[in-house]
Amino acid sequence: EIAFYNDSFVDINAKVVPIQERAHQFGDGIYEVIRVYNGRPFYMDEHLHRLQKSAEAIELQLPYTLNQIENLCLEGLERSTLKEAEIYIQISRGIYTRQHHFPEPSCAVFTMTIKNARVIPENKRVNGMKVLTTEDDRWKNCYIKSLNLLPNVMAKQKAKVNGCDEAVFHDDGIVKEGSSTNVFTVKNGILHTYPALNGILHGITRSIVLKLASETGIEVVEEPFNLDFLYEADEVFITSTSMEVMPVSQVDEIEFSTVRPVTDKLIEQFQALKDDVITG
Ligand code: PMP
Repeated sequence: EIAFYNDSFVDINAKVVPIQERAHQFGDGIYEVIRVYNGRPFYMDEHLHRLQKSAEAIELQLPYTLNQIENLCLEGLERSTLKEAEIYIQISRGIYTRQHHFPEPSCAVFTMTIKNARVIPENKRVNGMKVLTTEDDRWKNCYIKSLNLLPNVMAKQKAKVNGCDEAVFHDDGIVKEGSSTNVFTVKNGILHTYPALNGILHGITRSIVLKLASETGIEVVEEPFNLDFLYEADEVFITSTSMEVMPVSQVDEIEFSTVRPVTDKLIEQFQALKDDVITG
């Protein structure tokens, strides 16, 4: 495992972040997480483009080009010698006296860690995860992958203390996304998910799943749906870079069938995409 801070590779446990770093004083920055299978980054271009989109949205000038960032990721991966890894990239607005307005001139700082991928227990993949729903109390720009994750942290903790694996945000009953995942339902063979508006993160895994679905002839509806629709779904699953396509076995008090033809099909197709990367 290895890290990078402000122009150099450092030990993963190195203490290098200055007191007046805006990432920890204001959460003033953005991030990405990229999964690595068999030493090969998965959908790296898509993640880097989303990083650029987040940077533009907060008027942050990236300290490196996307190409340089890609090369740093690849160099870090090689130095780490890891095969099953997660690359965490963070760009903060830099180090400055603690004042809210932007530093002048701009001095963004690039941070990266490359660590072993989190392992999802096999029984979760087979049996599915339990989720609870909770009111979405976040801001209106959740399409930005911002470092400000306090509502997500609170929601995930609420899930944990209630014996669940994930919390799903709803806005006045409209189902948006999970605290670190996108949410899909299947009803009568049709796949439903909240549209890619500013109120949710436009998950890379979400867009992969939508593409796989349309390639397979599964009808897709990107329209808001409410909690009752979620409870009455035939199948529910959540997606993210680290969870991939994860079945849901229970939402609040409602249990779901373990017969999930559409979810299983998408898991199988997602695995095929991974296999393409793994075998190069
Ligand atoms: N929504 C939120 C709020 C997230 O934090 C994440 C994880 N980054 C996702 C959705 C899933 O996005 P992705 O598939 O790009 O990992």
